[in-house]
Amino acid sequence: MTQPLVAYVSMEIAVAPNVATYSGGLGVLAGDVVRAAADAGYPMAAVTLLYRDGYFRQHLDADGLQHEEPQSWRPETQLELLSPIVTIAISGRPVTVGIWRYTVSGVDGDSVPVYFLDTDRPENDDAARGLTRALYGGDARYRLEQETLLGVGMVAALEALGHEHIATYHMNEGHSALLVLALLERLRATPHGPPTFDDLARVRERCVFTTHTPVPAGHDCFGLDLAHDVLGPEYVTALRALGLADGDVVNMTHLALRASHFTNAVALKHGEVSRLMFPDVHVHAITNGVHAGTWASTPFGELFDRHLPGWRRDNWQLRQAIGIPLDEIAAAHAVAKHALIDRVAHATGKLLDPNRFTIGLARRATAYKRNDLILRDTERLAAIARLFGGIQIVFGGKAHPRDWDGKGMIQHIVGAAHALSGNVDIVYVEDYDMTWGAALTSGSDIWLNTPRPPNEASGTSGMKAAVNGVPSLSVMDGWWIEGALDGVTGWSIDAESGCDDERTADALYTLLQHTILPAYVRDRQHYLTVMRGAIAFNASHFNAQRMLAQYAIEAYDPAPAEDNRVAAKRLRAG
Ligand SMILES: *Cc1c(COP(=O)(O)O)cnc(C)c1O
Repeated sequence: MTQPLVAYVSMEIAVAPNVATYSGGLGVLAGDVVRAAADAGYPMAAVTLLYRDGYFRQHLDADGLQHEEPQSWRPETQLELLSPIVTIAISGRPVTVGIWRYTVSGVDGDSVPVYFLDTDRPENDDAARGLTRALYGGDARYRLEQETLLGVGMVAALEALGHEHIATYHMNEGHSALLVLALLERLRATPHGPPTFDDLARVRERCVFTTHTPVPAGHDCFGLDLAHDVLGPEYVTALRALGLADGDVVNMTHLALRASHFTNAVALKHGEVSRLMFPDVHVHAITNGVHAGTWASTPFGELFDRHLPGWRRDNWQLRQAIGIPLDEIAAAHAVAKHALIDRVAHATGKLLDPNRFTIGLARRATAYKRNDLILRDTERLAAIARLFGGIQIVFGGKAHPRDWDGKGMIQHIVGAAHALSGNVDIVYVEDYDMTWGAALTSGSDIWLNTPRPPNEASGTSGMKAAVNGVPSLSVMDGWWIEGALDGVTGWSIDAESGCDDERTADALYTLLQHTILPAYVRDRQHYLTVMRGAIAFNASHFNAQRMLAQYAIEAYDPAPAEDNRVAAKRLRAG
């Protein structure tokens, strides 16, 4: 194996459906980055934690109330336990860390290792063993201990594995920012006293940071008292001496920003919002993408293989999907829709109608995402459905166990499903995961997205839909601002409606009634043209291959930065 030059570090990485170490978009994106790197033969290694109880398994009772159970899985059946172990200090005692590997293989046989750190080992006390039990569980101390394990543990783990040529550490969200402290310790010029600003400058050369959310609660903060307990006095002294803490608090996003030479947001609009949030740094924007080969359903994968051989190696070829005959798009979609209908029948007992217009919406159930917005006026929705032979809506998504608003939103949807039937059939599938994500984004006729702008940093499920010729019906937020070509790749809901729920719902109903359903029911050629447009214009751009290329050119490759510095010096001299 070539020695990795980039270490990609993330609290969650979705490597495969049966490796339950992810909760949602952040982990799926991380998995897609790794899959794109493997395709390209890019010298990367990724590091995350091994959660033996996963995130949680979701069960909804008859009232739609969410219940959570551990998501047990067997690491030894999916991953390989490596022989090196490392020991790091957490909360004043040594914690032994095991390292498991999952190898992601690319289209040309290259591979990228994903290392999972595991503290459930006989050397550790019970509390330490439990550190890698659950993703996003526990209190502030548990979270800080996990983030210490991820940040400090990963640097030690890569050393123990002999990966000595890491030039760039890519922090995927602030959870891994404590790696800065471990790097300071290794790169400092003198071994005594607190590290200096010169030491920090050397660390900055190595660090890249991607911020993922404009929602303040998405940025972890810990008190320095707690940090003192968990990290120890030396690390806290370093945080204070280098201005990496804010008063008595360490904000993981600020830490990552101050210790990185390159920071990016995940869509152009998110870049603008982030520059307002963090006026002291330049925040670049690299819009997310999805791994096309992973998210194309079997019928679309085969369709592309026939018309665009080589698309898996070179996603730009999807631009040429504009030449694929519409009847072949229709046939591939019919297969994907049947697969979704079978899956829904198997999981819920509910039989959906393959001829009915089917709206898909699955995403984390949390207030700003407004998953239930389409149910704001159910009488109006039912009246529209009556005009066009009925509609079906398939919902999915978990609420964080402590997100009561999110849980209430699920109950609202399940309640509406009971109340409405006949013209509007609604199902809520339990336990949304990668497999459901693939089935829903390929088998729906349209993919609905109604968050409160500008809270959706990017969103990626609509990109998966595009790979499968499923148009988006979306408010103007996140990636859709870049992907929206009205009547060409999907339909946009009133750009001026902002956070006004009433006005947004009104615009949504109007679009369904006067534009989208008439096309679907009476002008199928036009509808199919939009489906094909979603592939040609959006799947060809919003893919992980383009995203990785941007990371490589703008963030990882040190040469252009060097050239820029030389150029800047010359300019000053001239
Ligand atoms: C793609 C995916 C997501 C992210 O989609 P968003 O549009 O950002 O909500 C979340 N969860 C799963 C299981 C996915 O497959």
